[in-house]
Amino acid sequence: MKVIQVSQLGGPEVLTLSHVPDLVPGPGQVVVKLLAVGVNPVDTYVRSGIYGPRPLPYVPGSDAAGEVIALGENVGEWKVGDRVYLAGSLSGTYAQQALCSTQQLQPLPPNIGFKQGAALYVPYSTAYRALFQRGQAQPGEWVLIHGASGGVGLAAVQWGRAMGLRLIGTAGTSEGIEQVLRQGAHHALNHRSPDYPAEVQRITGGEGPALVLEMLANINLQSDLEMLAKYGRVVVIGNRGSLDFNPRATMGKEADIRGMSLFNTPPQQLEQIQKAIVAGLEAGFLRPVIGREFFLEQAAQAHIAVMETGSMGKIVLLPWPSR
Ligand code: NAP
Repeated sequence: MKVIQVSQLGGPEVLTLSHVPDLVPGPGQVVVKLLAVGVNPVDTYVRSGIYGPRPLPYVPGSDAAGEVIALGENVGEWKVGDRVYLAGSLSGTYAQQALCSTQQLQPLPPNIGFKQGAALYVPYSTAYRALFQRGQAQPGEWVLIHGASGGVGLAAVQWGRAMGLRLIGTAGTSEGIEQVLRQGAHHALNHRSPDYPAEVQRITGGEGPALVLEMLANINLQSDLEMLAKYGRVVVIGNRGSLDFNPRATMGKEADIRGMSLFNTPPQQLEQIQKAIVAGLEAGFLRPVIGREFFLEQAAQAHIAVMETGSMGKIVLLPWPSR
């Protein structure tokens, strides 16, 4: 089968195509034929070494969807042909097949395509954890989703609208703004416009949002605190550098800045999130939006694209040319 391997950390060019033997499941393991693979910004951080050294070579990726093709011993709950999405894998997902533990598999409802299934694990789990587990969003609250046009942001818009939040989303292009509104935000603003903080104040009647989900804290944290309502919360999801920040901004409002990393989620809470995702897909209010598509061989191009502005949804890799 074809895989993308990283044999040395570095730029997108270190993502190279290799051919390796088909995977064989051990006890409690399942092999999935991958029909679509999700590309996340974190895949580029790991590849470039920002997250420190890691054993080499490795196959990148944590998100994908496909069909079960082989079962190890003691795997009663799955059968060959089941449609699944992956919540991580044992072997990496930039490949035509992945080896998974049973806990890493979730059922893909019939109304959800494989490309949409590849857009689920990191984006929808992160959005849920940020809104509800870390952010403690309550129905009726104003929530600013700062960076709503990307994979995590669009997921947060869909979750938030279904749960009764009042949503302001931001994007950097007019197409992104339209997408954010189509997915359910009550208002959408351009985070490149100098006027958007004043617009947030106007929309919220001068109160400010009770919760901000922040995708680029090194740019926005200071102004988030200035916009925030009294006793408000900022959940830091994304950050790509440092900033000159005045902590006084937290004091008068008794504001909370709450970091989050999906990889810190306790297993029981992660399991709850996957149950909520499957229920939201079945109910129809979670509808992953696919942006650009690349073949597996074009993984390097996908890594360049995922770091560009102008997001319109999830970037996916297609491991099989005919699908
Ligand atoms: P993505 O699909 O590439 O989307 C990036 C988002 O950031 C887009 O909406 C983009 O808007 C927006 N953005 C760009 N410039 C911005 C600015 N100045 N202010 C506010 N937003 C801005 O990435 P993603 O998968 O949604 O992930 C978003 C961030 O969260 C990334 O940094 C990622 O590494 C991080 N993340 C963290 C966790 C965690 O566990 N903490 C998990 C998943 C993702 P335009 O392109 O329209 O300008």
